[in-house]
Amino acid sequence: MSDISGTVKVSIVGEFMVQRYEEDREPSFYEAPLACPVCESDIGLTLVARRRDSSVECPNGHTWQDPSIAAAKVRRLVFLSWTGQAVADPSSVAYTNTVPALDEDAARADLPAGWTEPGEDDVYRNVEIGSSVYFDHGLLTMALMYARRLAMMSLPVDGGLWQRLQPQMGGSAIDAHMAIVLTALAMYEVSVRSGNHDVGEAALAQVEAMLRPENAAGLRALFPVAYPPKQFVPELRAADVQRLAHADSDTFERWRRAAADITTIALDTTVERTAAYAGRLGQRGLLVAKDPYRQQHDDDLTWYLN
Ligand SMILES: [Zn+2]
Repeated sequence: MSDISGTVKVSIVGEFMVQRYEEDREPSFYEAPLACPVCESDIGLTLVARRRDSSVECPNGHTWQDPSIAAAKVRRLVFLSWTGQAVADPSSVAYTNTVPALDEDAARADLPAGWTEPGEDDVYRNVEIGSSVYFDHGLLTMALMYARRLAMMSLPVDGGLWQRLQPQMGGSAIDAHMAIVLTALAMYEVSVRSGNHDVGEAALAQVEAMLRPENAAGLRALFPVAYPPKQFVPELRAADVQRLAHADSDTFERWRRAAADITTIALDTTVERTAAYAGRLGQRGLLVAKDPYRQQHDDDLTWYLN
């Protein structure tokens, strides 16, 4: 059986500053070099991520867990080293986008031959005229932005997902891309069915349910069309329409499973991170892709199409 732990190691040159918190200290939040709790070495440290766990190794052979070194942080650091980017500020690592780039033509799909315009009611219900009026973008386009943000959050958390979707680990950039597309299609379908045209407010638990195997064929057959002023415009890439139409069942199942994992991990992470806010939100697992924290990523509504 092949190793699916997604294990990576990164050697730190010099000190590695981490955030600390002490209630009785002024200020309570401060930065300090990461150091071995046994021998106090703060130089020559190695960070390790394996599955969803992480550890730190000092040059004298001590190993420990540090709450400020999450597996996702280690994998983001490794990603930065793959892409030759220097880590100027360790606190900025949390914003590193590790979704692999897929170098291909991003042309918009054409309307299929024989496609007929939906009736007025269907336009309003399925063609998201509401959101396009406000945002000049269709529902799926918005969902693609949020789905990519979820992938940014989830991908480095889990070693198995990391290994399957990172080309540097033997994974597939196409699988990573299609997992985001399927996640977006699931968000789209949840929004259409609920009549909530703010796709960013779709509950992650519903998106997760939509990605179950029994809904896969329905998601695969979706062809979202936006309605900017005076014309109908397909929202999917031509290349994705081709892939969705022709992928064999094993390949499609791989994409579905990766999409489900992205959503589940985001849900787990979200519930942990926002437990303190749960009472205020009134509902666990609201899609916090709208979270301002993730708005700072360099993504937008234009990444998907030419
Ligand atoms: Zn030590």
